[in-house]
Amino acid sequence: MQFRAVKGMNDILPDEVGRWQHLEHCFRRTAELYGFREIRTPLLEQTELFVRSIGETTDVVEKEMYTFQRSQESLTLRPEGTASAARAYVEHSIHAQEPVSRWYYLGPMFRAERPQRGRYRQFYQAGCEVFGDPGPAADAEIIDMLYRLFQELGIGGLQVAVNSIGGPETRERYRNALLAHLRPKAAELSEHAQSRLEANPLRILDSKDARDQAACAGAPSLLDQLSDTDRAHWQSLRGALDALGTPYQVEAGLVRGLDYYTRTLFEIRSTEGQLGAQNTLAGGGRYDGMVKGLGGPDVPAIGFAMGLERILLAMTRPDAPPLPFCFLAPIGAAALHSALVLAREIRQLGCRAEVDGRGGSIKSMLRRADSSGARLCLVLGESELARGVVQLKDLSQRSQHELPREDAARFVVEQLRAVDPNAEARSAVAGSDA
Ligand code: AMP
Repeated sequence: MQFRAVKGMNDILPDEVGRWQHLEHCFRRTAELYGFREIRTPLLEQTELFVRSIGETTDVVEKEMYTFQRSQESLTLRPEGTASAARAYVEHSIHAQEPVSRWYYLGPMFRAERPQRGRYRQFYQAGCEVFGDPGPAADAEIIDMLYRLFQELGIGGLQVAVNSIGGPETRERYRNALLAHLRPKAAELSEHAQSRLEANPLRILDSKDARDQAACAGAPSLLDQLSDTDRAHWQSLRGALDALGTPYQVEAGLVRGLDYYTRTLFEIRSTEGQLGAQNTLAGGGRYDGMVKGLGGPDVPAIGFAMGLERILLAMTRPDAPPLPFCFLAPIGAAALHSALVLAREIRQLGCRAEVDGRGGSIKSMLRRADSSGARLCLVLGESELARGVVQLKDLSQRSQHELPREDAARFVVEQLRAVDPNAEARSAVAGSDA
């Protein structure tokens, strides 16, 4: 039997990992410049946490969670990161330790969706959460932060959509207005929308079904129903985005799939790259009621999550070349030991080195060195060993010269650095994100 990865869950092979590390590094650096610190939460949580925070009538909770029973407890693989962060915030009474917390996370999420390009069952999200800041300056700053990050990653065709859905009071008023509009058209709605009409009419606004879209045409706009305080928040958000020069469009129909949002909502999309229909790179919003809803104090919060697979599909810039490295070709058993020590010295000086321990003639070693992609090759034979020297071949320039053994590591490192001055920084990045 040939095993395959679970449908919708992908291997990330070593050839692809460099792009992931680059993206993760850029995200971490940006987040840390904005004062976010990393939090790591478990991949499993009690099912009830997601039901309560994401909302019972959302797609995620209704049909996409990987849930199982273990010793009478219902557990779920996290479908997103915000609920876990808020749970940790409440559990550890973080509000009593600092007035504002800025956290970021990065890791796999799980949703049993229909797999397609840009939509998977295990996918990676990176996200930020701000607890304790009611905004709207914080809202504008994280939208701008994301926009600049995507620009820095070389993603073209960026679109920022923002909306406000107000607080609970505005939502309730709007719910009634929307129901008054939709109830007479109930029979024209899709079956799914009909079943949700009374429980969650707002979600019908972002249905992709043409029947639902037709029924929503001419519905009252949420932005017209904002309370005075919600409106002031919304207008200040727009003012701050204008001051930052972040281009955005107001999208009154933007409601997003999760129930916990209040006031600010946003999405960033890209119309370029290989994204296709799944072109939302990141989405987020304010969720002022969640911390309290999970049994904590009344602490406002805002956050976003971005999907790493989609960002990689949207990034069209060529990958950074691999780190230049040195291939060590020992001829004979004694030379092998010397090569192992020399390779370690090269690595200690911060460069990549690989020893070919498979044995063989000098000719076959050199063939392997060529096909390995190495820039330099150090040949260590019996006679070199006896004379305390090594032969250094530059594989791209086809030149060769002899070096004293004790100078070899330093010389090799100087040569490799001359080829790629950024190699050291890039290898440090890969190391810290591993
Ligand atoms: P959400 O948590 O649904 O607000 O999604 C935030 C971001 O995560 C989206 O904009 C996508 O980039 C990414 N995302 C969500 N679901 C998936 C999925 N099934 N596969 C890949 N990326 C996803």
